[in-house]
Amino acid sequence: MTVELTQEERLAALREASVVLVSACLFGEACRYDGKSKGSNPVMRALEGKELVPVCPETGAGLGIPRPAVELRGGTGEAVLAGQAQAVVAATGDDRTAAFRYGAELALEAVKRFGVKVAVLKERSPSCGSQGTHVNGQVVRGRGVTAALLHSAGVIILSDEEL
Ligand code: SF4
Repeated sequence: MTVELTQEERLAALREASVVLVSACLFGEACRYDGKSKGSNPVMRALEGKELVPVCPETGAGLGIPRPAVELRGGTGEAVLAGQAQAVVAATGDDRTAAFRYGAELALEAVKRFGVKVAVLKERSPSCGSQGTHVNGQVVRGRGVTAALLHSAGVIILSDEEL
């Protein structure tokens, strides 16, 4: 069973962490679906002096840059991992579930390889969102696919918007 920590507890864990996994787009990589980055000064300040493990689950899974925007259908990241929901191209409905699950596995591999206990992930992404994500055309409370898998593995997650 995973423990739900308060925001203060998660921020304290980030301050203590020496190694942090971070969504690559927050680190300045132009890997978003629209070909842009989301480089964030608050994130960079919070990560100063730490060893960083930048990961982009979607491009790691072979989805290109740019790429069509994807949303979850039928549930949040936990439901996708349980086989009860899908990740689909929002405009066409083309299924991207396998790529999203694979991208999440890659992030989990990086967590294990580098001994990561804390991650800073981009909010509202269908992969990286940790407080909110896109489901059935709306932003809902819940996690994207990668955030769900990392959370289930005990990784403490902060959103860029909490920093
Ligand atoms: S939010 Fe996650 S999946 Fe999307 S571009 Fe950033 S790192 Fe990649």
